[in-house]
Amino acid sequence: MIEGIMLENALELILERVTGITDITETEVSEAGGCRLAEDVYAPLDNPPFPRSPVDGYAVRAEDIGGADRERPAVLKVAGCVYAGDDGQSRSIKPGEAWRIMTGAPFPAGADAAVKQEDTDYGEKTVKIYKSQRAYDNYCFQGEDYKKDSLLLAKGTRLTFAEQGILSGIGREKVKVFRRPVIRVITTGDELCPPGRPLAPGKIYDSNGMMVSARLRELGVPAKSVCHQPDSEEKLAGVLEEAARGADFIITTGGVSVGKKDILHGALEKLGAEKLFWRVKLQPGTPTIFSVYGRTCILSLSGNPFGAMANLELLFRPALAKLTGDPGCQMEQRQGVMAADFSKKSKMRRFVRAVYRDGKVTFPQGIYSSGAIGTLRGCNCLLDIPAGTQSLAAGEQVRVWML
Ligand code: AMP
Ligand code: MG
Repeated sequence: MIEGIMLENALELILERVTGITDITETEVSEAGGCRLAEDVYAPLDNPPFPRSPVDGYAVRAEDIGGADRERPAVLKVAGCVYAGDDGQSRSIKPGEAWRIMTGAPFPAGADAAVKQEDTDYGEKTVKIYKSQRAYDNYCFQGEDYKKDSLLLAKGTRLTFAEQGILSGIGREKVKVFRRPVIRVITTGDELCPPGRPLAPGKIYDSNGMMVSARLRELGVPAKSVCHQPDSEEKLAGVLEEAARGADFIITTGGVSVGKKDILHGALEKLGAEKLFWRVKLQPGTPTIFSVYGRTCILSLSGNPFGAMANLELLFRPALAKLTGDPGCQMEQRQGVMAADFSKKSKMRRFVRAVYRDGKVTFPQGIYSSGAIGTLRGCNCLLDIPAGTQSLAAGEQVRVWML
């Protein structure tokens, strides 16, 4: 076990122990948001599957309305009306005819353009066309969106609402995806009270359980379970053992420092987990522990909400990228310019909650200690202050990691 490790080395140790998920499951498209595709998806049909009108108006043969304008309208016989959902193949247009047509309706065979109804007299039996059209004006070609047998979605694509819409649009109800990571969250601390109950003296409400699980959800990997445990090594060892079954990752908060109730050390020992490191050389959340039990990685974060949050971002997101094979899970780093001074000395590498906008880095009003959560509101990045920095002056170039 390494005690006191640089962030980059901590990440190397974590990534060595994380294996990318290769198990494939078939799932409902509606449930597949956030999953990665485990198959190449080809279009089984043209889209649109037939030529259709993009306007409400009249389907015509362009050659029948050449030169038409307000003064000299073309007059056509209205052969009928075709709505979205009607069969276009069973209708055809003859010279001198128009079909009333609605948006999305198939063109009758032989029609090669649509005239917007605003450019007509809205005629029912005959219609006056006030505007000429070229062939294929106001005309959606069969397969113009995508062609049958074309590759629509490549294996590995992360499914969002857009891809789910595409899958539904080709008639798929189910899709093959890599299984979601199984992640469990355990908060610890005798002082914690779940929201919704009255707060007894000395107690505080639990922020971390919600913050970590909400973050996992935002990252597209909702936690399989979230539970709270009192400060008992024996009990926690048992809970961890249970939680490790089938889990890729367990994230705990609290109990990792050197106090008498910092029970993670003892609990991990009783469990028989292999401890890889304790204490990352950064603030906040220094006392993070990383251990492995069987094939389950256990990331034990500080109980201080900002310590937990910052280390979840810095240490867990790269792990998630490897686990899911989705590099999009990584934090993006950007260069910024300090908009104000930061006078606190940073003996150790320090990450400060901040707001990055238009290249400028500003701080929220209030305190930024690792136990303070109020000033997290509105923050969208962590400002990375190198170890040994005395202070930062407005105008200085800095590095931020986007949340
Ligand atoms: P610990 O890491 O257990 O020593 O906790 C460090 C600080 O964070 C203490 O002030 C705890 O009361 C607080 N804390 C621990 N867990 C949570 C939590 N889930 N929500 C809010 N504060 C917490
Ligand atoms: Mg504690």
